[in-house]
Amino acid sequence: MIELIGINKYYKNEEEHHHVLKNINLRVKRGEMIAIMGPSGSGKSTLINVLGFIDQKFEGQYLFEGESFMITNDNKLSKLRNQTVGFVFQNFSLIENNTVFENIELPLLYGGYNISKVKNKVSQMLVKVGLKEKMYKYPKQLSGGQQQRVAIARSLINNPEFIIADEPTGALDTQTSKEIMDLFVHLNQKHGVTIIIVTHDPEVVTSCHRLIKIRDGAIIDDKEL
Ligand code: ADP
Repeated sequence: MIELIGINKYYKNEEEHHHVLKNINLRVKRGEMIAIMGPSGSGKSTLINVLGFIDQKFEGQYLFEGESFMITNDNKLSKLRNQTVGFVFQNFSLIENNTVFENIELPLLYGGYNISKVKNKVSQMLVKVGLKEKMYKYPKQLSGGQQQRVAIARSLINNPEFIIADEPTGALDTQTSKEIMDLFVHLNQKHGVTIIIVTHDPEVVTSCHRLIKIRDGAIIDDKEL
């Protein structure tokens, strides 16, 4: 599905020429559940920004389904991003003044869906993540784990080709982390969702099929688990 070929990325300013991604070669197959680990500053965020069509300023080739998407137009790029990739963050990034339902429906409204279709899709998604009872609550009325479920539902509502989760359990206690990982495993195994997870947590890695280690901008290890 995804193929990165010889990706190099530099941050340049007057004094410095920082080489942050070094000859990254990476293939992701549909249905994989991959963990990415590496010390702080090793280039994980930069890599997921490339993978998630956020950053296109790099050298090398990014092929998605065999095609290159070096798009210069910002509108086209955000449309491609919205249709292709769902994001989950450590701090959930929900809109506090919107209900659970409204948070999850937002990406659909951007996509121009009609209201009745939206209601159906959001209801089905709420069942999938186990939050049907909470749809009229606000994020503050939910536990951290429940908020992360809302964020996961939002990331999936547009049927993305894959999701990127950046430290999704970083703000959660051990038991809740386990529940969130169980949800990811369920979505991966039962619904075929392709998932890329950046994590520091070895427990999270045990739920994944593959571990990629990155250090100083380079992939130093890439193995099936
Ligand atoms: P990680 O996510 O693994 O902590 P990052 O991808 O955020 O690593 O950063 C990799 C390297 O790139 C770090 O040395 C960081 O200081 C540098 N870096 C990240 N973003 C920028 C930026 N916008 N400008 C300059 N340097 C940056």
